Amino acid sequence: MPMSRSRRGRVMPASEPDATLLLSDVHANLQALEAVLGDYRNRYGEVYSVLVAGDSVGYGGRPNDVLDALAALPDCVIVKGNHDAAAVGEISVRDFNPVAAEAALWSKRQLSRNNATWIAGMPSIEMSADVTLCHGSPRDPMWEYLLRTDQFLASAERISTPGCVFGHTHLPFAFARGGPDIRHIRPESGECVDLRPYQNWFVNPGSVGQPRDGDPRASYAVRCFGADSSGSRNAITFHRVEYDISAAQSDILAAGLPPMLAHRLSVGR
Ligand code: ZN
Repeated sequence: MPMSRSRRGRVMPASEPDATLLLSDVHANLQALEAVLGDYRNRYGEVYSVLVAGDSVGYGGRPNDVLDALAALPDCVIVKGNHDAAAVGEISVRDFNPVAAEAALWSKRQLSRNNATWIAGMPSIEMSADVTLCHGSPRDPMWEYLLRTDQFLASAERISTPGCVFGHTHLPFAFARGGPDIRHIRPESGECVDLRPYQNWFVNPGSVGQPRDGDPRASYAVRCFGADSSGSRNAITFHRVEYDISAAQSDILAAGLPPMLAHRLSVGR
């Protein structure tokens, strides 16, 4: 069970949840987040617990609405990404490209006091049951783009949990290690990966609000760990969801943010 709660501290339902929603890189895209939550509820029922791997703001036009929607989810464990840190002035926008810097400065001006305080208090790495949650990687939570086997192995050595949920690359992806075998999984939408054979598994649910794998649909994943006839499960299912891209683009343009941030949503880059 996740150990910390959303700041609004909803009361947990009495029944034990057997699914956790995995989100990353929402990037202030409210329409994409709402579509993901709707798709999740259609498939799995009410949300019981959520892990959010950072970059909830930056790039998109609805930072406060996205943070309010995340805060309203029960049992939401959330970490800080580089765009979140920039939006509260903890890291310099000189480390960003000009478009990202402009969006970070705009986000900083928009954030409500409540939401700025919430972001400032987020950890950059958090352990939740048997999963480590971070944005980039366990060894460099703010900046590392975790893409290669050597990076996966270096980070796996640093954590005491078998699982890790991360983001930052905006690509749905999983590494899984069982003995000497390492699997690289580039999942299709709807693909379910059984994690029981593996000692270590790292999962990137992909980006809710700004996918970069050429598929513009919002990306998320679900971890299922309830018992079935073969014992207790441990599986991740990846999903892609269509959403109202043109409304998200209108929010970006209405905010006066760089038009390329709106355009890229149509092409998933
Ligand atoms: Zn991001």
